[in-house]
Amino acid sequence: MTTGAPRTCLINGHIVTVDPDDTDFAPGYLLIEGSRIVALGPMADYRHADDVDELDCTGKFIFPGLVNTHTHSFQTLIRGVGEGLPVWEWFSQALDAVVGNLTVDDAERSAQVSALEAIRSGTTCILDYNYPHPRPGMADAAIRGFRSVGIRMILARGIIDCGDVHSTIINDTDAELEDCQRLINWHHKSDDDTVRVWVAPYTIFSTSRTAFSRAVHLARAHGTGITIHAATPSTLEAAHELFGSTDIAYEKELGALGSNMLLVHCTHLSPVDITTIAESEACVSHNPASNAYLGEGTTPVIDLMSRGIVVGLGTDGPASNNNQDMIAVMKLTALLQKLVHQDPGVISARTVLRMATMGGATCLGWSDEIGSLEVGKRADLIIVNPWLPNTVTFGDPVASLVYSATQENVETVVVNGRFIMKDRLFAELDVADILACAQLEGTALRNRSGLA
Ligand SMILES: [Zn+2]
Repeated sequence: MTTGAPRTCLINGHIVTVDPDDTDFAPGYLLIEGSRIVALGPMADYRHADDVDELDCTGKFIFPGLVNTHTHSFQTLIRGVGEGLPVWEWFSQALDAVVGNLTVDDAERSAQVSALEAIRSGTTCILDYNYPHPRPGMADAAIRGFRSVGIRMILARGIIDCGDVHSTIINDTDAELEDCQRLINWHHKSDDDTVRVWVAPYTIFSTSRTAFSRAVHLARAHGTGITIHAATPSTLEAAHELFGSTDIAYEKELGALGSNMLLVHCTHLSPVDITTIAESEACVSHNPASNAYLGEGTTPVIDLMSRGIVVGLGTDGPASNNNQDMIAVMKLTALLQKLVHQDPGVISARTVLRMATMGGATCLGWSDEIGSLEVGKRADLIIVNPWLPNTVTFGDPVASLVYSATQENVETVVVNGRFIMKDRLFAELDVADILACAQLEGTALRNRSGLA
């Protein structure tokens, strides 16, 4: 029985499913009907059908699409701004100079470039922590930008209503929460559920207690998620000044921690904080490149996972990375843990891949639909070509992806059953034109902001 939707079958590839049993099919087949995976298994079980388009993946690897749990798309227009500055100066000299000057067109363009970069580096789902709102319509424009490429996304609407940081984008509390509500009403689960809307108190020093509390209730009322930068050197310092406690303790006391909460960074956690997170079932987004770039330490990934805390991976914004490449983030995740623990066996490539796929999907409350290749799930996947000088010779496909591959190995990307990039080409987009426009618009933004 078929639905009449187009059917495409990937055949002869090495399929790494990341299902609960870590099943591989080598070689295997994977049948897509409409937006979903309707069958997969070993090639020995495959039967050709005349109404199915077949794509031969001989010699290729097929993985679930990577899930980027944290970025700030607008920063594509200011990659690398403020390099080398300590974090408070980075906020004030680099980001503060820019955020108030962003236009609605900037929001759309930067999201479009972010989506292109994500797809080219194997990411099929991305959370945009979308916090600069100097004028109305910025979030809607970002959604338009992402959707013009076709990536699955969460727009996490940032909330900034107090504090000294980012003074040009502090808005009235009611206006911030009303816009969150409007965005949920308009966009949440839209476009065949490829777009979701979350709420995102920026930090404990930029979001008032009232706004934070209202955001928690709004997320619960709509069954959606909430995310905040947490347990970083700056949030911890501010929390001790403001509340005499850690920010995790404050968030617990506020009633903000639960399974729909995604805590970003968590490089500075006390043992009590770790217990609090574990008991609350909140998840953690680990952003190793950004943590290293800003000299903020690294997340105790192994400790967190040993306590049952789900850890996903993120790039953070390209002003502190300075790209949004999840393949690079996977490698860095593995290397940093080996380095910190001085133990090469402390984390495996399979564990890192699981963090970047199912871990991310769980962090985003989306693991029932994405994160692994299983019958009934959405067809979000990547086809990786290992026949390049940086990956030949290869053995285990997972180790090849995590340690040897670069984004050049990502050949084809499918989101929601749609071939967004095929053989590294975007059929419906003029990528060169988009990048040329972005370069001009980024230069104009830096000029307007006095950063040129
Ligand atoms: Zn961030």
